Amino acid sequence: MCDFNCKKLKCADCCGPIPFEKVFYQSVLKFKQRPIVSEREVSSFGEDFIIPVTEDISCCFLTLENSCAIYEQRPQICRDFGNGTHEHLTCPKIEPNGKIRSKKNRKLLTKRIKKNIIK
Ligand code: SF4
Ligand code: SF4
Repeated sequence: MCDFNCKKLKCADCCGPIPFEKVFYQSVLKFKQRPIVSEREVSSFGEDFIIPVTEDISCCFLTLENSCAIYEQRPQICRDFGNGTHEHLTCPKIEPNGKIRSKKNRKLLTKRIKKNIIK
């Protein structure tokens, strides 16, 4: 879920399992919305992260109404998704300027991202 105008779609397709900084995760865990079936621990650049995984492979903080239970405190990766700062955080449905992507645009985007991941 992002900062730009995608609220009308309310799809939350981008709210899958993501890495949370460990201390932060423990501090917001009381807001979890879905049962967690596993927690993967990863370390990167000297920091410890946890990736909680739910049965339906969505973020454990995603409410049943597709909103974020920790919206004001959500991680940077959630704030950046779709805003054009990084290609790997591109929304497949809406452009950074808020325009809904056409089918053709979506196809081209998928092709470009696949190519970048595979290379
Ligand atoms: S950023 Fe894109 S994928 Fe995420 S909720 Fe908005 S429209 Fe859906
Ligand atoms: S923390 Fe909130 S915005 Fe980020 S993936 Fe989870 S539900 Fe979505």
